[in-house]
Amino acid sequence: MILEDWHSHNEGCRHAKGSIEEYVRAAIKFKLRTIGVSDHFPYEFLEDIERIPYEEYAITLPEIERYLTTSEDLREKYKEDINVRIGFEIDYFKNQEPVLNTHLTPVKKRLDFILGSIHILNFFNGKGAWGFDDSRFRKDYDFYGVDEVYMFYYQSLQKMVNSNKFDFDIIAHFDLPKKFNDIPTDKEVVDNEMMKTLEQIKKRDVTMEINTGGLRKDCKEQYPSVQIIKEMYSLDIPILMGSDAHKPEDIAWKFDKTIKILKKIGYNKLAHYNRRKRNFIEI
Ligand SMILES: [Zn+2]
Ligand SMILES: [Zn+2]
Repeated sequence: MILEDWHSHNEGCRHAKGSIEEYVRAAIKFKLRTIGVSDHFPYEFLEDIERIPYEEYAITLPEIERYLTTSEDLREKYKEDINVRIGFEIDYFKNQEPVLNTHLTPVKKRLDFILGSIHILNFFNGKGAWGFDDSRFRKDYDFYGVDEVYMFYYQSLQKMVNSNKFDFDIIAHFDLPKKFNDIPTDKEVVDNEMMKTLEQIKKRDVTMEINTGGLRKDCKEQYPSVQIIKEMYSLDIPILMGSDAHKPEDIAWKFDKTIKILKKIGYNKLAHYNRRKRNFIEI
C-alpha cells in the first residue's frame, strides 16, 4: 500500500526533536513513498502576540533559507528512496495576511504544499491571543468556556477558508480543540458550526488532513473524528494523511490502522502535492 506522511516537524521549531534528515530516514525505513517536510512558519512579524511564547513555536525568518536549502539537498540526496516534498505549516491570523505574504511570497515557488492551521485564538475583548493547544494556556479554557472555544475556533477557521489573501492547500488537524479531551456541552450548536465550516472548505476545494497526532494526545483519536470524516466523505472533500511528527519515531504514526478506518468510510484515494499542484493516489 502506498503511504505518504504530509506533516512533520524537526528541531528547527525548537519544540520538536531531530534533524530533517532523521525524519526523512525514518520515513524511508517505514517504506513511505513521500515525506512532507512542514515545519512551523515564523511568527515574529505578527501583531498582538504578546502572550505567545512564539520563540518556541517556530523557526525564525532568518532561518527560512537554511530550512529550504537543507530540504532541497535532502530531496536530491534521497530521490531514489523517497519523494521529499517541501512545505510549511502556517498559522492563520485574521487581517494579518499582508505581512505574512511579505515573507511568504518570495519563497512560495520553492514549496510543494502549505498546511493552513489555527493554533492561536484572539477573542474580541478577551485577554489577548493565546495558544489553545498549548497546555500552558489551560486556564484560558476555563476563562472563555469550552463551547465558546470550539465556536470561536470554527468561526476563525471559516475566516481562514474564506480569505483570498491566505494561500494554502490543506487544512491541518481540523477538530484541534478536542486535544485535551474537552467535550462541548451543547454538541448540536458546535456541530452546526463545524458543518458550516466543512461546507465552506468544500467550496474552496482544499484538502483536509487526517492527522494521527491526536492519537498521541489526551483525546486519543485522530483529528478529525470518525463522525466528521464521514461528513467529509459525503461532501466529497479530498484528504491526505499526516502524523504531525515531533520526533522521528512519530513518522507514519498508526497509519495502518487509520487507513483502514478511511477505507471503511469509503475513501479510496488520497491527495498528493507537487509544486502546489494536487493529484491523487489510490489506496
Ligand atoms: Zn509543533
Ligand atoms: Zn499544527
